[in-house]
Amino acid sequence: MRHTVRKSSAAATEREADLVKVSLVDRKTNVLTTSKLRCLSHLPTVNMTAGCMHGCAYCYIRGYAQYPGDEAVTVYRNTAEQVEHELQKKIKRGKPLPIAVYFCPSSDTFMPVDEVLEQSYKTMK
Ligand code: SF4
Repeated sequence: MRHTVRKSSAAATEREADLVKVSLVDRKTNVLTTSKLRCLSHLPTVNMTAGCMHGCAYCYIRGYAQYPGDEAVTVYRNTAEQVEHELQKKIKRGKPLPIAVYFCPSSDTFMPVDEVLEQSYKTMK
């Protein structure tokens, strides 16, 4: 599913007032992945999207294979269900649950796009 929405933040910058293309897809890989960054290697990370509407000039995510391009965001619409499934699997196998989760090292958990906010809140519950 792909559609275009207008960003809705009251504090939107001129750039953020532009249109962003939002695609909704099902994530097929594990959500709770370990960061390759050494300082985060003890925490699982969760990204709600591929791509980010803010377009910070210094951002490293443009180098990622799944980067959808500037002015586009891919929202993983099944993240909450996937996280629940992965945590249940750990419990069944007697593995320890993570003490914390790092949300969105490669996007913005609370970017003012309805689909992202909906998934973020649902996943955090
Ligand atoms: S992921 Fe972070 S640094 Fe990158 S564009 Fe989004 S807000 Fe900026």
